[in-house]
Amino acid sequence: MGDRQRLRYRIQGTVQGVGFRPFVYHLARQNGLAGWVSNTSAGAELEVEGDHRALMEFDGRLESDKPAHCFYAGLERLELPVEGASDFSIRNSLDSGPRRALILPDLATCPECLREIFDTRNPRYRYPFTNCTHCGPRYSIIEAVPYDRYNTTMRGFPLCLRCFEEYHDPRDRRFHAQPVACPDCGPQLAWWSPQGTALCKSEDALQAALQALRDGRIVAMKGLGGFQLLADARRQDAVELLRARKHREAKPFAVMMPCLDAAERWCSISPAERDLLTSPAAPIVLLAHRAEALIAPAVAPHNPYLGVMLPYTPLHHLLMAGLGFPIVATSGNLGEEPILIDEIEAVQKLGPIADGFLVHDRPIARPVDDSVVRLIAGKPTVLRRARGYVPLPVRVNHDLPPSLAVGGQMKNTVAIASGREVFLSQYIGDLTNTASYERFTATIGDLQRLHQITPEHVICDLHPDYLSTRYAESSGLPRESVQHHLAHVLSVIAEHGIREPVLGISWDGTGFGPDHTIWGGEFLLVNGAACHRIAHLRPFPLPGGDHAVRDPQRVAQGLLYALRGPAQSDAPQPILRMLATGFNSPLTSSAGRLFDAVASLLQLATCNSFEGQAAMQLEFAIEDDPEARHYPFPLTGDQLDWGPLIEALLAERDSGVPSGILATRFHRTLVEAILAVARHAAIPRVALTGGCFQNKWLAEHTIERLREEGFSVYWQQQVPPNDGGLALGQIWSTSGPRS
Ligand code: ZN
Ligand code: ZN
Ligand code: FE
Repeated sequence: MGDRQRLRYRIQGTVQGVGFRPFVYHLARQNGLAGWVSNTSAGAELEVEGDHRALMEFDGRLESDKPAHCFYAGLERLELPVEGASDFSIRNSLDSGPRRALILPDLATCPECLREIFDTRNPRYRYPFTNCTHCGPRYSIIEAVPYDRYNTTMRGFPLCLRCFEEYHDPRDRRFHAQPVACPDCGPQLAWWSPQGTALCKSEDALQAALQALRDGRIVAMKGLGGFQLLADARRQDAVELLRARKHREAKPFAVMMPCLDAAERWCSISPAERDLLTSPAAPIVLLAHRAEALIAPAVAPHNPYLGVMLPYTPLHHLLMAGLGFPIVATSGNLGEEPILIDEIEAVQKLGPIADGFLVHDRPIARPVDDSVVRLIAGKPTVLRRARGYVPLPVRVNHDLPPSLAVGGQMKNTVAIASGREVFLSQYIGDLTNTASYERFTATIGDLQRLHQITPEHVICDLHPDYLSTRYAESSGLPRESVQHHLAHVLSVIAEHGIREPVLGISWDGTGFGPDHTIWGGEFLLVNGAACHRIAHLRPFPLPGGDHAVRDPQRVAQGLLYALRGPAQSDAPQPILRMLATGFNSPLTSSAGRLFDAVASLLQLATCNSFEGQAAMQLEFAIEDDPEARHYPFPLTGDQLDWGPLIEALLAERDSGVPSGILATRFHRTLVEAILAVARHAAIPRVALTGGCFQNKWLAEHTIERLREEGFSVYWQQQVPPNDGGLALGQIWSTSGPRS
């Protein structure tokens, strides 16, 4: 008996709501160990006692066999005196000390639950709210910590005897599954008219929605993190109707496929993309769709990519199994407002859009949009971070003070940090929209409450007129501003834990520069606390300022005016006057605007009805260039001069070279220019960031060329390269003083 030992483990990380305690219970009993396991406010604690060999086996498998969504951020072992106990138990939560246990994101339906809802003999047959400790709603139902049923929106559903027994049985996969529910005690579906009149319930409601979709009608469905608008994706008339009623001209819609097989039939999918689609996060993945696919052109006009997701709740599975064809599944909102979560408000706002409402009575605690991911150079890059990812932290390699970062103006997200964890909020959107601004302030409160962090600093953008900046000013906290493009670069540095000097290439549409011009084609050398703008695009005037953003032709007129002067300009008189006097014509070094101008000069785009539309048309026009040529784009002093580039491009255009070839040569020119600046800077580490690097061709070719020349290239994966990732960079600026 001399080799008997007792060990205590203290574990921090994602261990609650993931089946950790049943896992430990089984593992201890299999190895004949005595002891107990309990949740704590910081994670979990357990003690095990038995012979040395059994303890070693337990110790190894505690790491190797842990449940799928379990993550240990810290694990401490302590040897204790032997107590001579013989049984193993699960103890009640030890609720004291600081609350640092992590909250999980919403998780896609697991295979066992999926089997149950299609098994006629199972009590949860066709039950749309089936879940277990491995799957189901989490972040979208939690209202307070600790994560226990009474702190979720499931509090109003008392458990029936069956659910009660499952919930309390450590051998059951629903042991302590907080949202556990069944047809006898859980939420129910209802089918409402566009005016909000209840027409039928449960299975009848589902059947009514199925029939409406088969008939080409538009259905508003209350999903997991908010409403979705659904329509048959094969029917041009249905999709056009949705566009007309939603006043959404051209911005692509996402599609839900019935199953992975169907997705593979309609799109070409790499193994990495398949893993993403079927992951517990189940995001929208941007996939190249096949030409012969029967998706209506109105779903993603003039776009070779399709945003595709698979069913991720039992409700979606039941719906898609009933339909057997792909449907448009887009955010249930008006314009740029947050997605709706409440059925009464949804009827008021979406009544004119939807032909019927499929709703349920499980309240949604906060809007959580579908996330969007694109594979770049073989790695997933999150373009919109929400469902499935939030509220998991981004882990950094440096302790941060308790602080709040308020992000930018468009695609806003906010972040709160303490220690080595940064909690980036879900996608909020455009703050100039009143409802989004309200969501922004609510989210800041929400983050502080759920993560129990009281910020001591606030960090915002340098732009004085961003609503996020104004909020920071009025917060009463000590405030720091971080320049927009520096924040983009710091976001990459934080995510990858880079300690060495970095050449940050920060290309986007718009950001406020300290010289009061509009930046956006920046090369920033970031070394610890120091930042130096070593190069940028040659500035040109934007006639009309912000108005030019919607009108690529205006951007082109500004560019040509700077290049050739008034004599050779074909701009209309009022624009010429603006340019000549400089009135309302701010200078910009924005790469995004250069894309707009070139898209206009090549007649590929006449308007930006949504952000990045013209630039996307330029990307999608790319065709194989047998000569693999590029144009001159010289670095003169600290300016990349697009003059020779534009002259060469226009000469080729006028000699009849097809626009697809010109688009390719333009992209290749940018890649070679980046390479030239990188060689000149001679910093071995290069970070690519900003909305322009959502362009797959640009990002992948830049990465490839830089690597060929021996550079280490970094780009974002966990957070968006667009302004949705700014808050992480802002908060990282608190890691040290910065000039
Ligand atoms: Zn499950
Ligand atoms: Zn029940
Ligand atoms: Fe930006």
